[in-house]
Amino acid sequence: MEDTIAAVATAYGEGGIGIIRISGEESLSILNKVFQPIKKHIEKNDVEKYIFKPESVSMTIGEPIVNRRLTYGHIIDYHTNQVIDEVLSVYMKAPYTYTTEDVVEINCHGSIVSLRKVLELVLKNGARMAEPGEFTKRAFLNGRLDLTQAEAVIDLIKAKSDKSFDVALGQLEGALSKDIKQIRDLLMDELVGLTVNLDYPDEDIEEITYEKLLNNLLQINDMIQKLISSADTGRIIKEGFKVAIVGKPNVGKSSLMNALLKETRAIVTDIPGTTRDTIVEDITIKNIPVKLIDTAGIHDTEDTVEKIGIEKSKESFNEADLVLLILDGSQPVSEEDENIIKIVGNRRALVLINKIDLGMVIDEQTLHEKMPRAIFIETAVKDGRGINNIEQEIENLVYNGEVKQSGNTFITNVRHSNLLVSAKSALEDAVNMVRLGEALEFIEIDVKRTFEFLGEIVGETVSDSIIDEVFSRFCLGK
Ligand code: GDP
Repeated sequence: MEDTIAAVATAYGEGGIGIIRISGEESLSILNKVFQPIKKHIEKNDVEKYIFKPESVSMTIGEPIVNRRLTYGHIIDYHTNQVIDEVLSVYMKAPYTYTTEDVVEINCHGSIVSLRKVLELVLKNGARMAEPGEFTKRAFLNGRLDLTQAEAVIDLIKAKSDKSFDVALGQLEGALSKDIKQIRDLLMDELVGLTVNLDYPDEDIEEITYEKLLNNLLQINDMIQKLISSADTGRIIKEGFKVAIVGKPNVGKSSLMNALLKETRAIVTDIPGTTRDTIVEDITIKNIPVKLIDTAGIHDTEDTVEKIGIEKSKESFNEADLVLLILDGSQPVSEEDENIIKIVGNRRALVLINKIDLGMVIDEQTLHEKMPRAIFIETAVKDGRGINNIEQEIENLVYNGEVKQSGNTFITNVRHSNLLVSAKSALEDAVNMVRLGEALEFIEIDVKRTFEFLGEIVGETVSDSIIDEVFSRFCLGK
């Protein structure tokens, strides 16, 4: 018999309620050892008038616990007869539960003291402390979730933006599993065909032609590639799109941050060179999490503090998904601008020609030539002009200018993308052999490898150590 496990399922700290979760065969008997259900009776007349006077309330102790009904009562340490907390408990009978086992949840007051005491009591009465992720691991081992769905639970808990939450929820509901299954089914068809041709060559069966095999494998390869391609967007959805704002002092970097933040956070000043350190702000643009990195400006300086800031700007510049360069459109390009323009060079960048309200002096044509891959937007960030265009361009860049995928399947997990890359490489080996007209048994080996790599994603062909690794990333109580 599996141990019955228990843990605090809610975040530590102060809260209205905190929940202790128990899972396993002993759940109900443990609950009975620590919980005293109480039914409160209120005089009929008072109930109808919604009056709850203490003197009109009487109690019956020891109500039976009913499956899936929240029951009021006390947690009592029967060794000392001390009441530990006033709680609501629920017993959920297997198999339709989170872990598929019997589950009990005790809603305590959300204080660390109460949760610790109730948990200790539950442990004393036969439960074992759950390991991080053990509830979800049981859901996986008992077949209720596949591995991608279990991993989605971590992503859901950690989601910081609407979009990453949506993607994780889609994955929990099986969106990725469905795509993987579809590809594996197609691979299985090919494997069956190959096996039959190899093992029963004399039977009257459809013979595999290399041409048909090649076509089918290439089609499958495209499907895998599509998933791999979604990983860039997937990473951004999960971790945020890093935008480094660069430009010489006083061009409007802080004002842009403020406009995007829609609140005054960075300090706007008229004195050049005052934004010394880098500032990172997490914002959401069109549901996409974006990390705005305001830099000290890349320019020559003797000031040491400022120098450090400038080094940092160069760093964030190199790590960024997008460089957003601001130039003052009301002035000609200065030497300082030129230096930054040189660094941007051939990179993909968003270039704002700012302060157009003051009149355009800057020579935009020359700028286009110097930064051929940049997208230019004319703005007056001080009064919000052009902000919409900036947001639109950022959205386009995140989705690679492709039509926004209607589904929610994005690869957001490194384990998945590594396995997809391995699967693709195995499949490409198979494709090459088909092209060379190699023997079917060699081709079969690589098609099988592809099938197995994909199986690892959903957890069908996966080792215990990988399962442990996946669940070790969970927090306690999940
Ligand atoms: P930073 O040093 O690059 O961060 O620049 P700031 O955002 O601090 O802006 C410097 C000055 O330029 C401030 O006085 C802003 O109000 C002003 N400014 C920023 N954007 C615009 C704009 O679009 N038009 C005008 N006229 N002034 C602006």
